Amino acid sequence: MTSHLTRREAITTGAAAAAIATMPNALSAQSSARVKLRVLETSDLHVNIVPYDYYRDGEDNTVGLAKTATLIRAARTEAKNHLLLDNGDFLQGSSMGDWIAYKKGLKPGDVHPMIAAMNALGYACSTLGNHEFNYGLDFLDTGVKAANFPFVCANLVKADGQALVRPWLIIDQTVTDEAGTRQTVRIGIIGFTPPQVMQWDKGHLDGKVRAADIVSAANTHVPALKAGGADIVMALCHSGIAGGNYRGGEENAALHLSRIDGIDVILTGHQHLIFPGGRAFDGIPGVDNKRGSLNGKPCVQPGFWGSHLGIIDLELERAGTGWKVADFAVEARPIFERTADRRIVSKAETDAAVLATVAAAHESTLAYVREPVGETSAPINSYFALVADDPSVQIVADAQIAYVKGLMAGTAFAGLPVLSAAAPFKSGGRGGPTFYTDIKAGPIAIKNVADIYLFPNTVQAVKVTGAQVREWLERSAGIFNRIDPARTDEQALINPAFPAFNFDVIDGVTYRIDVTQPSRYDGQGKVIAPDARRIVDLSFNGQPISETAEFIIATNNYRASGGGDFPGTKTTVVLEAPDLNRDVIVRHIIEKKRIDPTADNNWSLAPLPASANVTFVSGPVSATLKPPSLTAEPAGDAPDGFVKYRLRA
Ligand code: MN
Ligand code: MG
Repeated sequence: MTSHLTRREAITTGAAAAAIATMPNALSAQSSARVKLRVLETSDLHVNIVPYDYYRDGEDNTVGLAKTATLIRAARTEAKNHLLLDNGDFLQGSSMGDWIAYKKGLKPGDVHPMIAAMNALGYACSTLGNHEFNYGLDFLDTGVKAANFPFVCANLVKADGQALVRPWLIIDQTVTDEAGTRQTVRIGIIGFTPPQVMQWDKGHLDGKVRAADIVSAANTHVPALKAGGADIVMALCHSGIAGGNYRGGEENAALHLSRIDGIDVILTGHQHLIFPGGRAFDGIPGVDNKRGSLNGKPCVQPGFWGSHLGIIDLELERAGTGWKVADFAVEARPIFERTADRRIVSKAETDAAVLATVAAAHESTLAYVREPVGETSAPINSYFALVADDPSVQIVADAQIAYVKGLMAGTAFAGLPVLSAAAPFKSGGRGGPTFYTDIKAGPIAIKNVADIYLFPNTVQAVKVTGAQVREWLERSAGIFNRIDPARTDEQALINPAFPAFNFDVIDGVTYRIDVTQPSRYDGQGKVIAPDARRIVDLSFNGQPISETAEFIIATNNYRASGGGDFPGTKTTVVLEAPDLNRDVIVRHIIEKKRIDPTADNNWSLAPLPASANVTFVSGPVSATLKPPSLTAEPAGDAPDGFVKYRLRA
């Protein structure tokens, strides 16, 4: 069928050419100096094809290329000329990606489900994202070989200087101009990836691949691309938009790239943000967050996991023998909307053709997330996470510490002790009496990990002093009401207005919390009682912690970037890892096979007088799960379906 269409198309073209040949002046009379070209971009798909959350094991209308595909098809019908590009991070992510990488494997000749889905949509080109290297170069090679579209990346080469994939290419794009005449625009596409892959995937890339600075690579290759005859140059930039002076080696280099002559259009990603419009991009000099431009050049970023389709409508104008961008409009079009009452409303049907390409992989992934991948020798629950050290936080600490230690190896920070900060995300409160992590001892499945780690955060690490460790814990300890030890009437221990996700437990040090002292910090992270100290007996390696000693704390992007305004965050970030905390926990379990997340009791509440009547609430199924270290007794029912406990001295 394809050859038939091609032949017919060829005949039509030939006939038109013959007609023009007999009328030498017709071409200039009929053709227009204006061409409209619509560029479509997906980025950071991360093996999200089916609108499904494999951790929750349920439908999810906020993700999936099968949804974005519907926007792609609609966007194509709205425009005479269009070009579909992907910006990388396609081979890793989602439980479907894990299933391929950890269970099924990718043998030569196999088609990765993400590639199968992309093949159904007619991509013109893609670049490589940083996550393409997560499973090594053979996996990547097999992955991209099955694609029916090419890949470009200009700033990574093999150690011997050979290309990993071609740095750039030129597409002779046949377009219909505004007068209805066919013309050709030569579109150059050049790809970039954060050079940080050399640290993030050291194990796979060390000695095998060399990375160059994105801007330097552009300066090297763009002149060749222009000399090669490109009319318009598009940067397929798996890198984001950030302000600040150019220093070289930037992870998010798109703004610097926009200053390079010869680059006309910039497609971005990697940050998993939305441009134009994302709040992160307000007020950066050179960035027009309304129009969608960097130093006047059109730019888009389409969210992540298929959440948006990036659309750049270009109006091209004849310039000598070539073309230039005369005007543009930019949009990041979403597959869903969130209503004022936080409901998700789908804006795109699920594309049946794309869905069909991964139907079998989806079924296998469902089986994979539901089947045991390891075993836990102790129950993992959070019923007492706010009053005692707890296995649901311990397993996060164990996984984060192991992961960050690995990434610190060979860096300037390799010698520093690695601590972990993690909060019990599911601990009742407004979530209600069933909103607790509750995994029984025995087999553990991948879908259970969502129960341990609720949010799709990424791992980050900060470098702090002993004094900052202490302040961090003081900030956390604001979750407790001040207990008056002289009183004998009932006093509730937990302040319900303090969100549990800001109750960081720091593992790797030991401490006790004296709740008879006032909280040093308020709920916003402001010091309100400068003389108060709730954190007592803070020790590292059995010795009182040194105020000046340096530590690395493994945490998440939310906390490290200032979420909760914890002392010792923001300016102290030494690692912005590419992986989700949740994925790090999954891998920890798969690698260990058998985990023992029993809490190490590195922290506890300081003892209260026997006469004090201090209570807290938990879920109704908690009684048999109370940790032995915690002296508390059931004290009847509490409002809203909770049960009450009384602390015992
Ligand atoms: Mn990504
Ligand atoms: Mg612990």
